[in-house]
Amino acid sequence: MNNTYYGHLVFELSKPGRTGYSLPENPWAGAWTLNEIPEPLRRTTPTDLPEVDEPTVARHYTNMSNNNFGVDTGFYPLGSCTMKYNPKVDEEVAALPGFTALHPEQGAKYAQGALALYYEVQKMLAELTGLSEFTLNPYAGAHGELTGLMVIRAYHLAKGDTARVKIIVPDSAHGTNPASAAVCGLQIVQVKSAADGTVDIEDLKPLLGPDIAGMMMTNPNTLGIFEHNIPEIARLVHECGGLMYYDGANFNPILGVCRPGDMGFDVMHINLHKTFATPHGGGGPGSGPVGVRKGLEPFLPNPHVVKGEDGTFSIETSPDALGRVSSHLGNYGIIIRAYAYLLTLGREYVSGVGKLSVLNANYIKACLKDYYALPIDGLCKHEFVFDGLREEYGGAHSSPLHVTTLDVAKRLLDFGFHAPTIYFPLLFHEAMMIEPTETESKDTLDRFIETMKTIAEEAKADPTLLKTAPHHTPIGRPDDVKAVKDAKFVF
Ligand SMILES: *Cc1c(COP(=O)(O)O)cnc(C)c1O
Repeated sequence: MNNTYYGHLVFELSKPGRTGYSLPENPWAGAWTLNEIPEPLRRTTPTDLPEVDEPTVARHYTNMSNNNFGVDTGFYPLGSCTMKYNPKVDEEVAALPGFTALHPEQGAKYAQGALALYYEVQKMLAELTGLSEFTLNPYAGAHGELTGLMVIRAYHLAKGDTARVKIIVPDSAHGTNPASAAVCGLQIVQVKSAADGTVDIEDLKPLLGPDIAGMMMTNPNTLGIFEHNIPEIARLVHECGGLMYYDGANFNPILGVCRPGDMGFDVMHINLHKTFATPHGGGGPGSGPVGVRKGLEPFLPNPHVVKGEDGTFSIETSPDALGRVSSHLGNYGIIIRAYAYLLTLGREYVSGVGKLSVLNANYIKACLKDYYALPIDGLCKHEFVFDGLREEYGGAHSSPLHVTTLDVAKRLLDFGFHAPTIYFPLLFHEAMMIEPTETESKDTLDRFIETMKTIAEEAKADPTLLKTAPHHTPIGRPDDVKAVKDAKFVF
C-alpha cells in the first residue's frame, strides 16, 4: 500500500516524545499579556497527533499525494461535471503578485486594472451568452442558481405579483436545481422527460399557470441531448408569465456555437470553474456568474463594477438590487483565470470548444455502442449515457453473469482511468455517464475506448475479475455505505 510508510500507518510509527521540529524559546514570554493564548482558550488534553521525525512526515504526505487522482494525472470522463484540463498559463497569470496582493477593501481608484479585468469578463460573458449583463459575485454554480432565482423572484415581486411561488424543473436536472429552488423558497414542480430524453411538452402544458415563477433548464440537458423544442418551451413559459432559467454550469458544449439568450432564456449562471479553466472538485473555490436579459439588470445583486464615461471604473450599488450575495465582488482569482483562458482562445478559437467537446463525446459513443447498451441513440452533445454493458457481454440485465456498471467502473481504475459518473441520472438502472471534454487528444480517447472494449471482453470471459476489481489500487472495494455513515471507518 502506497499510503503507508514501510507498511505502517503514520500513527503506528509514532514514538512518544519524538518531534519533527524545534521552536526557539519565546523571548517575549510574559512581556505582554496578549502574547500568550488566554487560559480558557488553551486545550486541556493533548492533541491526538502522531509523534514522528520530519522525513517520516514528508514521506507520509508525499505518499498520500501520490494516491490522488486528478485531471493532471489521468483521463477523467466524469459526466455532468466537466472535469477538463486547465491550462497552466492561467494559473501563472492568477498568481501574479499584482493580483494576489490586492486587498478586497482596496479603493477603486487604486485598483483600476483589476476592475477593468472584472468589467471585461462581465462583457465577454454577455457576448458569449447573448444576454445583457452579468454579475460575477456568486461563489459557485449552486450559488449562481440561487442568485438567478432570486432575480426571478425580485422581478415578479416588483410587479406586485406574489402568486408565483412554483418553479418547474425537469426530472433529468442536476440535483442542485431543485435544492437551490427550495433554498429560494420556491416550490418545485417536476416535468417528465419524453422517450428521447428531452422535456415532454405534453407533460409541461398542464403545469403552466399564474402560480409559475419560471422554469429551470439545462440545454444540452443532463443526458447530453439538445432540447430541440426550446423555442416552443420558452414561448409557453413566457406566455404564462414565467421566466426561463438556464443552468449553464457546463457551458462548453455550445460555447461559441449558439447562445442561451437567443434560445429564449432570461436568466442563467455559468460555472467559471468548469467551462473557463479553474480546477474544480473537492470543494475548491468556484465562481458562478449570473447573466440576465435586458430589463432584469436592476435586480442583479450589489455591488457592480461600472465603467464611467471617462473610462474609469467604479464599484456601485443600486437600490433595486436584490441585496448582496457575497461579501465583495466574488472569487476574483477564478475570474482572472477565466479572463486568461478567454484571451488565449480569442474570438477566433472559442467556437472550437463547443464543436470539439461534441465531436469527442460522439466519437466515444460510436466506438463503444456495440459493447455498452445505448438507451438513447442519435447525436449527443458533450456527454451521453450508457445503460451498462450489453447483454452479450454479461451486462446486469442479462443472466447469469450480472456484471454491473459499478464493476466496470472499478475495473477502469486498474487501467489508470477515473470512472465516469455512475448511477446518475436516475432514468436508467445501470447509468454510466461519459463526458470526455474538448481538451483530450484523439490518442487519449482511443486508449480509453480500447480499455472499455477490453473490459467488456473480460466481463464476458471472466466476470469474477470485474466483480473483485480493482486489483491494482491502494485499497480495494471499500464498503461505500459504511464509509458514508461512519466517519471513523477505516478501510
Ligand atoms: C456542477 C453543476 C452545478 C453546480 O455547480 P457547483 O459549482 O458545484 O455548485 C449545477 N448544475 C450542473 C448541470 C452542474 O454540472
